Amino acid sequence: MPADIKYKRILLKLSGEALMGEADYGIDPKVLQRLAREIIEVQRAGVQVGVVIGGGNIFRGAGLAAAGMDRVTADHMGMLATVMNALAMQDAIEKAGGYARTMSAIKINEVCEDFIRRRAIRHLEKGRIAIFAAGTGNPFFTTDSAAALRAIEVGADLLLKATKVDGVYSADPAKDPTATRYERLSYEDVIQRNLQVMDTSAIALCRDHRIPLRIYDMSREGDLMRIMRGEPIGTLVGG
Ligand code: UDP
Repeated sequence: MPADIKYKRILLKLSGEALMGEADYGIDPKVLQRLAREIIEVQRAGVQVGVVIGGGNIFRGAGLAAAGMDRVTADHMGMLATVMNALAMQDAIEKAGGYARTMSAIKINEVCEDFIRRRAIRHLEKGRIAIFAAGTGNPFFTTDSAAALRAIEVGADLLLKATKVDGVYSADPAKDPTATRYERLSYEDVIQRNLQVMDTSAIALCRDHRIPLRIYDMSREGDLMRIMRGEPIGTLVGG
């Protein structure tokens, strides 16, 4: 691993919305291809990369339930949406010359592997990008919690949340011109001030297992690699 790379193993959380680009539904192939290239770049630099993908660009359980659907069924649909996104990312990574394996928390063996922790670690060690699909496999959870869980399970030394904003702000920067970006926060700051970083169960998992979390803007090309070199991009929680 090159000396300037600070991390051995990371877990990258991409929301479903991150894959939409400018559209309001589905996947923008250009965004997907760029993200795939950036992920391969850091993997080739020696970083082992696990990815958790959300499903909000297709279905969100809470939204379907608000429209009258049974919540558990709705969450099953949300989890299946994450599998579709994971397959799209796997394809994009392989088309770009990388190696990827999708592992699902729900058994769909004709489509992808099951999530088996030791096998996942083996994929990472062999330089394959492990894409963890179907969240935690349980309704009433989110893929943020799944990302924190998988990061802990595979022993990642950094959890990254790629969003559309370049970190955590004191207020919504689109509405409040005095809003300032935090460079660093504690887990307690996030929970007590109810900062919209990740859901509370995800933050609590990170806090209890001391895994640092960095929030950054995925639309800025090259930032993932800069973070791997230790540049203070976005907001660091814990660490
Ligand atoms: N989901 C779930 N359990 C999990 C993870 C996800 O039931 O462990 C469902 C839930 O309905 C959620 C949907 O999958 O709304 C998509 O995930 P999420 O909303 O976290 O996606 P993102 O906002 O990151 O795109």
